[in-house]
Amino acid sequence: MNDIGWELLNKKDKENIINGIIEGKAFSGPLHIEIHPTDRCTTSCFFCSTRWRRKKDELSLNTISSISKEMKEMGVRSFLLSGGGEPLAHKEKEKILEELGKSKAHMFGVTTNGVGLNKNVREILIGLKCQQVIVSINCSNERTYSEMMQVGPKVFHYVLENVKKLIEERKNNLPKVIFQFLVYKKNYNSIVEMYNLAKEVGVDRIIFNGLSFLKEELKMKKEETEEMISYFKQILKVDEYRKILGIYSFEQDIGEYILKIEREIGNERSKRNILKKILEFILKNKEYSLKEKLKHRKEMKVRKKEKYYLDKILDPCIRPWYCLTIRSDGAVPVCCVRQHILMGNIYENSIKEIWEGEKFIEYRKQMREVILLGKRYKEKKDLISNACILSSKGFSSCPFRSFYYRRDFPFMEKLENIIGKFES
Ligand code: SF4
Repeated sequence: MNDIGWELLNKKDKENIINGIIEGKAFSGPLHIEIHPTDRCTTSCFFCSTRWRRKKDELSLNTISSISKEMKEMGVRSFLLSGGGEPLAHKEKEKILEELGKSKAHMFGVTTNGVGLNKNVREILIGLKCQQVIVSINCSNERTYSEMMQVGPKVFHYVLENVKKLIEERKNNLPKVIFQFLVYKKNYNSIVEMYNLAKEVGVDRIIFNGLSFLKEELKMKKEETEEMISYFKQILKVDEYRKILGIYSFEQDIGEYILKIEREIGNERSKRNILKKILEFILKNKEYSLKEKLKHRKEMKVRKKEKYYLDKILDPCIRPWYCLTIRSDGAVPVCCVRQHILMGNIYENSIKEIWEGEKFIEYRKQMREVILLGKRYKEKKDLISNACILSSKGFSSCPFRSFYYRRDFPFMEKLENIIGKFES
């Protein structure tokens, strides 16, 4: 889950990425495309990070149709709808979904505020076998929702109803539904309530994130952060990553706090004798079936292995060999994070021309140096920020640089063979 289509790659695709890094070329791709269909939004969140650049742009149905055709021609494996604005606020949302379905690329997912998840949209998403829907519900009650999203309280309940219906109507448990909560100074004391709401609605997973670019008066003090962590500890102890997919913050680095909690939970567990462990496995968490419990055990092993690999191997950004983002104004930014740096525009060039064009060549050249030099790479360049550099860890590293391939351990090992091993 949350691998933005990485699972759909075959052996050859991955070889192409590794060889592409070594030789500084693109032998394939883009294999995944993120599309921001519209600048419009159905909520008016005070913390929206793209407000600064949103106008009234929208990719027309004709443009989406051309994108879809090109995706098919280029063999794009998957796509994701996100924003920019709210993807399901597009005036012709049903039609664009159908049009993108013709590309034969898998619909990996949509990140939405949930307002546009009407009956038709739900049906189309289910028909397209969309893998996941991330709903930014952000908080646990109508009052905070109104404050954060600046809409009437009814919208909160409307979104919850849409999500419940999607869960009821979906087939083969797809799409997986993820609730995203945005925790900050004014709502951190309802973290337990958020967790309970997600369980009550029946979503598959939960992500806790934070807000960025906050005004000074909205930033948390040390004691508030500690209190927030105590709530996270409370739910992590109960949940043990059954529902919780991750706990992050854009406001501050809480990685060490979370690691400490994980260590404490692990130590407590290891103190129990084998009989106690078996009894707990059978008798505790009765709301989960035996199959779910076994799945969770497997998941925890993978999580442990992921940590082991991350301690051992650096995790570079391989985006210029894997994916490309198209904004609602047709612009193709360097990545979904650094949207002020542009690589081209689909109204001027085809996706293929942009992907194979001068700017992407330069982007690959710069990122290749980061990877091949590893920790010896020092110099920040125009297309490479401090967050992209491999010596950056925790808060200063980019959260989007590797999450999608980190559980592909054979691929991580192949990366290990090239990171820091060459002069670029
Ligand atoms: S590391 Fe992050 S900011 Fe840098 S290019 Fe990759 S996705 Fe963009």
